[in-house]
Amino acid sequence: MTTVLGIEGTAWNLSAAIVDEDDVIAEVTETYRPATGGIHPREAAQHHAMYASNVIERLLNEFRENGHHPKDIDAIAFSQGPGLGACLRTVATSARALAMSLDVPMVGVNHCIAHIEIGRWKTPATDPVVLYVSGGNSQVLAHRAGKYRIFGETLDIGIGNALDKFARGAGLSHPGGPKVEAYAKESTGYVKMPYVVKGMDFSFSGLSTAAKDALSKHSLEDVCYSFQENAFAMLVEVTERALAHTGKNEVLLAGGVGANMRLREMLDVMCDDRGARFYVPERKFMGDNGAMIAYTGLLMFKSGTTTPIDQSHVDPSFRPDTVDVTWITDKHEEVL
Ligand code: AMP
Ligand code: MG
Repeated sequence: MTTVLGIEGTAWNLSAAIVDEDDVIAEVTETYRPATGGIHPREAAQHHAMYASNVIERLLNEFRENGHHPKDIDAIAFSQGPGLGACLRTVATSARALAMSLDVPMVGVNHCIAHIEIGRWKTPATDPVVLYVSGGNSQVLAHRAGKYRIFGETLDIGIGNALDKFARGAGLSHPGGPKVEAYAKESTGYVKMPYVVKGMDFSFSGLSTAAKDALSKHSLEDVCYSFQENAFAMLVEVTERALAHTGKNEVLLAGGVGANMRLREMLDVMCDDRGARFYVPERKFMGDNGAMIAYTGLLMFKSGTTTPIDQSHVDPSFRPDTVDVTWITDKHEEVL
């Protein structure tokens, strides 16, 4: 058995977990909740710094209570990016200290890839087109020739941030996504909004602004509904084209916005029409979590990848398509 401890802290959630090949053995999370407004990067980093040692201590206690010993840990994984620089640096510092004290290697994990791998672990998906929709990120990805390729992505802000920004402007508290979903359910009509897909990429910031402006003429319910319909149709369109292009027959939904039932419904209809299978992990594995970092670290460690301390610097714009996916063989792929 291989056992890896992983720490996530790219944005609002500080979460650490220990996993082996079979399951999550222990997990402890401390969430930063802004008193007002959205996520403040420096405050989030201060939150992570304040709770880091407490989270690790509780995690190791839970690990011991489940019959293990810290010396069973083979590697320390940490989210190396993308994310908020100050938050990433705090987590990397904790990971370095822990790796040195346990005398085990570090594994720097790409946060987007971790969302994919936890989905492949916790659902039957094997080789999916992935729609990864979170606060800061929105991407359509799929594995091809040794890398997770980005088939389409946002040209400006993530869909989660677009929803949160609009919601904040409408006087709703953070995070706005779930509130927009709730208001949308009470809508009685559609309001015309921008629909921006360029090639395989999409853009949300104009939609977010247009939705805010529409509030002067239309009800909050109708604006929330129309915002969702347009934004999600854009995401589903690009996901469908990636399916057609790659010839794959599975779709995996990842990231916090994946909690949205209307988005799931639209993806489900599209997959049904194309004869593709649609997978959604359990809620706790969809948003940012330590288990996804630990598990991806385990896959990387087992396939021979570790991160020397002098290469453990963080990268706030770390792109998933720069990582060699050493843990998947291309057996399901023809010569490209
Ligand atoms: P993540 O960055 O992956 O942890 O996801 C956080 C984002 O998910 C925030 O922008 C939330 O507003 C968004 N979110 C959470 N639940 C929902 C929902 N039901 N509908 C839309 N967005 C949501
Ligand atoms: Mg995320």
